Amino acid sequence: MRRGRKHRLHQGLVAIGACALLRITEHQEDTYSLIPIYYSPDYTAADDDFDTTRKATWVAASLLSAPIDGVALVGPASLTAAQLEQVHDPAYVQAVRTGKPRHLAESSGIRWDPKVWQAVRSSNGGAVAAVLAALRTRRNAGSLSSGLHHASRASGMGFCTFNGLALAAKAGRDRGARVLIIDLDAHGGGGTYSIVKRWPGVVQLDLVVSSLDTYRPQTPSTLDYIRDAADYLPVLRERLATLDAGPAFDLVIYNAGVDLYEGCDIGGLRGITAAVLAERDRMVFEWAAQHTCPWRLC
Ligand SMILES: [Zn+2]
Repeated sequence: MRRGRKHRLHQGLVAIGACALLRITEHQEDTYSLIPIYYSPDYTAADDDFDTTRKATWVAASLLSAPIDGVALVGPASLTAAQLEQVHDPAYVQAVRTGKPRHLAESSGIRWDPKVWQAVRSSNGGAVAAVLAALRTRRNAGSLSSGLHHASRASGMGFCTFNGLALAAKAGRDRGARVLIIDLDAHGGGGTYSIVKRWPGVVQLDLVVSSLDTYRPQTPSTLDYIRDAADYLPVLRERLATLDAGPAFDLVIYNAGVDLYEGCDIGGLRGITAAVLAERDRMVFEWAAQHTCPWRLC
């Protein structure tokens, strides 16, 4: 299979937030009262060259050329091995750090080189930093992280090395937050669910258009396999409305995958247009603004 034809992941946003930038700063979001979007060139440091390992820089470059008022790119702190081991098996963390054993170091599908360690520590650090910023400022925050939700405790999968969604959810839990993970990538977030399913106060809402990495969640977590694009937004609306009846969440972590777009050659579903994706994001943001208290993300 050609490299460019492999399964591609299009995760972009980790904690709910708008994407844009004015400048790359070092933890200055409070000073400037801007929405921080975490990003570092380290995100794309790996030698293996395909869209999952490169697109964060493409998005950052796009935002640099067309800034949006009120939003800034912010460099995150990289996670340490000890922080990664709060969610992942130490032997797996060691394999990604050293490249040995190679089969474990490359279990994500990304060809290993020493800069993979640099890349995933930074990219997953951005996911955690976005959550911490959202909790601290009670505003939206985001990260241009990619390759997160298929990773499980002891291995990678589907170009996901470490699970930044689980790492971010843990950061929220550790600070007393009830956490809702909304995963709207084309593919399932089975890696995330395998980690968070036993964590009280963490719920995952998952809509997929592909069977890859699907799973059987326990209530109140849900997974819906959408085969007709006309069902996508109504099912999302229904799932969000169902959550209204339960306890409030303090934090929403949104994995805003766009690989279900009809023009995507892997994962795309006919009828999922840019307009559908825009409406999807609007629904999620509006729901979060209305329902996440007391740390309302808006
Ligand atoms: Zn995907």
